[in-house]
Amino acid sequence: MNVLVINAGSSSLKYQLIQVETHTVLARGICERVGSDDAFHKHGLDDDEVVIDAPIKDHSEAIAMVLEALTSGPHAAISSLDDIDAIGHRVVQGGKYFDSSVLIDEEVIARIDELAELAPLHNKAALMGIEACQKLMAGKPMAAVFDTSFFQTIQPHAYMYPIPYELYEKYAIRKYGAHGTSHRYIAERAAQFVDEPLEDLKIITCHLGNGCSISAIDHGVAVDTSMGLTPLDGLMMGTRSGAIDPAIVPFLMDHEGLSTDEVNDLLNKKSGLLGISGISNDLRSVRTASEEGDERAQLAYEMYSHSVKKYIGQYIAVMGGVDVIVLTAGVGENCDKMRRMIFTGLQSLGIELDIERNKGRGGEREISTDESIVQILIIPTNEEYMIARDTFELVHDAE
Ligand code: ADP
Repeated sequence: MNVLVINAGSSSLKYQLIQVETHTVLARGICERVGSDDAFHKHGLDDDEVVIDAPIKDHSEAIAMVLEALTSGPHAAISSLDDIDAIGHRVVQGGKYFDSSVLIDEEVIARIDELAELAPLHNKAALMGIEACQKLMAGKPMAAVFDTSFFQTIQPHAYMYPIPYELYEKYAIRKYGAHGTSHRYIAERAAQFVDEPLEDLKIITCHLGNGCSISAIDHGVAVDTSMGLTPLDGLMMGTRSGAIDPAIVPFLMDHEGLSTDEVNDLLNKKSGLLGISGISNDLRSVRTASEEGDERAQLAYEMYSHSVKKYIGQYIAVMGGVDVIVLTAGVGENCDKMRRMIFTGLQSLGIELDIERNKGRGGEREISTDESIVQILIIPTNEEYMIARDTFELVHDAE
């Protein structure tokens, strides 16, 4: 079955066409700056890509371009739209309604719309993608795969915030988490890697990219995660602050005269690695600067690794131990220096990084020593494959 995976952001649209049974990516691409005249569309596989510069009015136009590129021209992956069997959409916020992926119908669309209040940019973008596909590929089965559904197993004592309960009742303010598809994938792969059932393991999964989150998965069940009502909570990130003393928000509004939008912007786009280093949200640039002696870049490194280390400690306490710690995404997969800083000093907890293995490159691999009680793994994430697989299973079951 060929599944078109669509990941619609507010001004971008990423896609992959995946042959699920053979685990093959037939095509991938991205439309960027959707809604503007200087938009572009990149399409193809790594060694054979084409970039088309053209205005893209909206998501509907973006999807029309994607379908055109998939079916015609030198980079076509299929001969007609009939070769697309189903479509899987990434949806950021599924709220309390969705504890798993679902086939999309009018009721699901209405729920996604209702939940847009909790993730305005993301859910609205997903809806635009869904509507465009309905228009251009009427009748094809479509599934919604939510970033939050994996975390619906988290219990109230871990997802509630200690603010007046009425506010939870009125606005559904609680922890929902994010990156759930990635955490689910790397936990599953980690269990396969260590050759034990997921249900027998205590796993801490660390997704360290531009956005960062960490989860505790106890015997296959997510019991806590660092992102909250929104993806701003938890770990220090590229441009996001992660958890800070909430009193800083009114303080800044008073002293800097910031509006709610401005303070939101400051914490989401000007903080994290970028805010501390003053150099970049990209850890590669921060690393270069720190190695050249830049003190704020070094501080950013130390704060970031301290933030991950603290959460690892918390989740060991929450689960009463850990068997496997898994790292993924740009930083988790590639930055040996950050990994070394995160794991330094954890030997007494049975967590021992192998310095040589940590320097190695490649795909799925173990970077702990043979003596380490806890296994530390790197598993490159693959959210698109999970979306395709969920879509495949839902469509298959419905037949
Ligand atoms: P996203 O969350 O946007 O999907 P990625 O998972 O691609 O992000 O991670 C992007 C980040 O990974 C970059 O901003 C950069 O900080 C980091 N990164 C990628 N490669 C390296 C590397 N070799 N060394 C250090 N950091 C890296």
